Amino acid sequence: MNNSIRNMKGESKRIISLFILGFLLLLVSGCGADKILHYEFALNGSTMGTSYHVAIVGDSLDASQRSLIAASIDSVLKDFNQILSTFEIHSEISRFNRNKTAAPIKVSPELAHVVKTGLDFCEKSDGAFDITVAPIVNFFGFGFEPGEDRFPTVEEIDAWLQLTGCDKIEVGDSTLTKTDPRVSIDLSAIAKGDASDHVSNFLLGKGYYNIFVEIGGEIMTHGINKYGKAWLIGIDRPNFGGAPGADLQRVIKLSDMAVASSGDYRNYREVEGMRISHTIDPRTGAPIDHHLAAVSVISENCMKADGLATSVMVLGQEYGLEWLEAYPDAEGLLIIREADGSFKEFMTSGFSQYLTD
Ligand code: ADP
Ligand code: MG
Repeated sequence: MNNSIRNMKGESKRIISLFILGFLLLLVSGCGADKILHYEFALNGSTMGTSYHVAIVGDSLDASQRSLIAASIDSVLKDFNQILSTFEIHSEISRFNRNKTAAPIKVSPELAHVVKTGLDFCEKSDGAFDITVAPIVNFFGFGFEPGEDRFPTVEEIDAWLQLTGCDKIEVGDSTLTKTDPRVSIDLSAIAKGDASDHVSNFLLGKGYYNIFVEIGGEIMTHGINKYGKAWLIGIDRPNFGGAPGADLQRVIKLSDMAVASSGDYRNYREVEGMRISHTIDPRTGAPIDHHLAAVSVISENCMKADGLATSVMVLGQEYGLEWLEAYPDAEGLLIIREADGSFKEFMTSGFSQYLTD
């Protein structure tokens, strides 16, 4: 983890931003004027090909309590990875993807639950969010197989479109069925949010009520920070290749809420001289290509925020904003990149309650 200390807007506000590898959100730990009122235990590590940061605020913890918490979180995340990570060849999802049968396959209730949530987003977004997007994600080099350095042919796109769509997977409480044995799934767009929910629920279950959990930029918060206030989180300005925390678009305050983001400016590749995004529009079979640069969604749980952020990223600024406005219990900030490289914000009507400035 890299910690950086910088001044915000030239004022004496001292913020400590935790570097989050390749993602959009930063924990902003406090302001110079604030007094530290509570003990904080902060830990970090890596999981799901990214980093995680956890902070627990309250009574002080001794060394054995701290190492027990660290080991337990590590183990929760390892178990999680073994179910949902397409980057683990022995994970349950990878075995499901390799399984070439159209018969129902027995899976863990957790995998079934995440797939069910993914299919729900698929239906609600009219296929903009689609967990069967895996072959396209892989072709473009953002998945579990090495990608190609060329654009696909019309025939290849047609073949993918036969294998993608919410109707290609059926889910029961502990079974999954592919309607075509060649179908494979990718849960990356909601897995980190779900993992953040899992870790925070685990900590709540252990009696810790003031917690911050971030996995790859997807954040769940509960209670207060060490200054006795809501958790402060910085949202990066979506500069291509910009370092996390180097340039903040906004700072938001959250308590008992989650925030997740999607963006076009960190996880991208160059193919045939063109910059391509890791977000795929499953309706066309191509990476998204519009001026929406980043979306942050606030909601009551992190998997929901994560799925909504990806959905809006696909839907684009105009329709995405309208769609999110109508979505129950979710607020969003959409940042578009203008032709001259400047940024413009659009927010759902309730987003401003979370802003600090
Ligand atoms: P991030 O990983 O930056 O937080 P997302 O949550 O938006 O971003 O997840 C993006 C990942 O989701 C991609 O790398 C890919 O694996 C997968 N994905 C891409 N397009 C879609 C889509 N339309 N629906 C569902 N998953 C997608
Ligand atoms: Mg997402």
